[in-house]
Amino acid sequence: MTESILVAGDWRPGRGEETPSLFPADGSVNAVVATAGVDDVNEAIERADRARREPAWRNMRPHERAAILGRASDLLTGRAEAVARLQTRDNGKPLAETRALVASAAGTCRYFASALETLDDALTPPRGDYLTMSVHEPLGVVGAITPWNSPVASEMQKIAPALAGGNAVVVKPADATPLVALELGRIFDEAGLPPGLLSILPGRGSVVGDAIVRHPLVKKVSFTGGTRTGRMLAHIAADKLMPVSLELGGKSPTVVFDDADIDHAVNGVLFGIFSSAGQACIAGSRLFVQDGIHDAFMTRLVEATARLRVGHPEADGTQVGPLISEQHRGVVEDYVKLGLEEGATLLTGGERPRGDGLDRGSYYQPTILAGLTNAARVCREEIFGPVLVAMRFADEDDLVAQANDSVYGLASGLWTRDYKRALRVARRLETGTVWINTYKQISVSTPFGGVKESGTGREKGVGGIRAYQQQKSIYLGLNEQPIPWAGPVIEEH
Ligand code: NAD
Repeated sequence: MTESILVAGDWRPGRGEETPSLFPADGSVNAVVATAGVDDVNEAIERADRARREPAWRNMRPHERAAILGRASDLLTGRAEAVARLQTRDNGKPLAETRALVASAAGTCRYFASALETLDDALTPPRGDYLTMSVHEPLGVVGAITPWNSPVASEMQKIAPALAGGNAVVVKPADATPLVALELGRIFDEAGLPPGLLSILPGRGSVVGDAIVRHPLVKKVSFTGGTRTGRMLAHIAADKLMPVSLELGGKSPTVVFDDADIDHAVNGVLFGIFSSAGQACIAGSRLFVQDGIHDAFMTRLVEATARLRVGHPEADGTQVGPLISEQHRGVVEDYVKLGLEEGATLLTGGERPRGDGLDRGSYYQPTILAGLTNAARVCREEIFGPVLVAMRFADEDDLVAQANDSVYGLASGLWTRDYKRALRVARRLETGTVWINTYKQISVSTPFGGVKESGTGREKGVGGIRAYQQQKSIYLGLNEQPIPWAGPVIEEH
């Protein structure tokens, strides 16, 4: 059966090509989606622009919009297992991870509902015979473009605050993973969102995504994806003088100091790089271990890596599932080959796992490369797979210099018992997030985003709603007499 898409309130087949969603564990077809064509994009945006101006939405009070978000959160929670399974079929992440992502998406929706009900506008101190206020208005129609690695979380992270802010939203999910976004469309429909305010337009980035970004009625694009694509979108946005939020790639350093709690550090480093099979923007993909602990730590880490359970994403106990596609596994394999050519030593992994039906999916063994300096390409470029590059450092200054020597600046992790050093180094690392004695923890109440080529703008936090609004200043005149300068002009007539 061919899946319909959501074009501003209408469920119907898109006018673009039909695209299958494939299960990365065995290549079977989950569904075929009739993707959007450029005509669908234009229609969705024009109707969204009309819908957001309708009194039913324009005059809806914040607590009423919040009620819709609250119902959407409840609906998602009510069908959490089904959505987690759908997400697992679409991108191959183990069920344990997709269950957590769905719970997080429902929490995100609930959080923005609550934040919306409690946000105040401001009365500013007047400097004349007037009352001044600063209020927040929606931007209009907002585009949301997402990658394939955590669709349910990335999509809700954009849809919820954008609707909370009073906008209409047009979502372009990743080519490979359209199914969860379509389910979110159904959920917001059932939650009572007025028609037209949300469109789900799967399709190719260069066609559907490009048409959304360029459309004159689109007033902001929130993009999560690769740095190359983000840079292209930023150029188009600059021409339109349109704000963009860019959540891009990373090559995040995780740092183990001599005094670290080894059990915690081994566990955290493994989780940081090998959960989601390394397909995470925040993957801790560059490891720096201090000289004094280096050999003991690496021995423990390599042993623990070899014990990770690579397996079917729907099986209990699987820690590492397949990569998104055969093609992507090829990219990861090429990087490992490159690392070896650059002089790396392979400490573990470096091949496809065999047996237990794993030959049918795009699996890759968790891999650690060592013996390179930060100058090697595999230490500089985002691999987006289960590949860790391990390096060493002498002291704090050496570490900071190496860790910051990257075009990326998304996240970092520190393992040490010395809290003063931890805070000192945390302030010196050029990354949007720093985890100390933990890794890959994400809270919707805490802003998230990158520095350098990892992006601009922040999502999450109460400011997450403000990112989809613009400020307006209102002056309310209280003067009993005409403004002095104009007064005599009026008297002459
Ligand atoms: P991608 O940049 O190839 O695609 C992301 C989205 O952009 C997809 O929906 C794609 O169809 C669309 N797109 C592609 N070309 C486009 C164009 N010309 N115009 C408009 N849209 C276009 O990235 P990907 O391969 O899907 O995802 C992996 C990347 O995403 C990695 O680099 C990863 O680090 C990054 N990522 C970042 C974060 C973050 O929060 N910083 C989170 C997850 C993933």
